[in-house]
Amino acid sequence: MSFGTSGQTLIGNRIVPAGRATGGMILLVEDEESVGTLVRTYLDRNGFRVCWVRTGEEALAEFTRHPIRLVVLDIGLPGIDGFEVCRRLRSRSTVPIIMLTARDEEPDRVAGLEIGADDYVPKPFSPRELLARVKAILRRAEPAPRENMLALGDVTIDVEGRVVTVDGHEVELTAKEFDLLTYFVESPGVVHSRDRLLDRVWGISYPGGTRTVDVHVGQLRRKLRRPELVRTVRGAGYKAVTP
Ligand code: CA
Repeated sequence: MSFGTSGQTLIGNRIVPAGRATGGMILLVEDEESVGTLVRTYLDRNGFRVCWVRTGEEALAEFTRHPIRLVVLDIGLPGIDGFEVCRRLRSRSTVPIIMLTARDEEPDRVAGLEIGADDYVPKPFSPRELLARVKAILRRAEPAPRENMLALGDVTIDVEGRVVTVDGHEVELTAKEFDLLTYFVESPGVVHSRDRLLDRVWGISYPGGTRTVDVHVGQLRRKLRRPELVRTVRGAGYKAVTP
């Protein structure tokens, strides 16, 4: 990690243009080049800026220099290990911490969680799995600010109170139905693929999981009695329209 002289920031050997990423900055602490490269590339492609360092000492130093949203922390590091880094970060911050370890052993997991890590991902892991954990933890840690009330046609959503009404009458929805409806109504006219809906509403993708989306859309149409609110776009997914 180093800094350019013209206001640019060199992150993991690469200049990152300002404003390109929207997910915030993740501090990646990993001494293995292959793992670090994989994680950095994947997180970067998914909208996060990544500050990648190879030692715990550097991690602690960089943490004070940037607005870090989440730390991905390897346990086995040269110098102080990941446990010690976690302890020291926890003594001054509630930043979400995901620990990585090469040893899929219960004692490591327990030790990591006991000293304040939020989650634990054993190596080898897929970057997709790590991304899903990152997103889930960020959602828990700092729910995105949004409008309290949403409406599309005569369907209204009180986001904070989690109440849905149709033509003034309250409709009972399950938690996931509510989340799905809110996601649709937040972006009327936008076509969402089943995979994207799974990712955004359920927080993870899994083979065959897109059927879950179809089932929930069916339930929404039935419960709201507004079958045209969520329209099927053949071969592409679904979109919300004014019913
Ligand atoms: Ca390591």
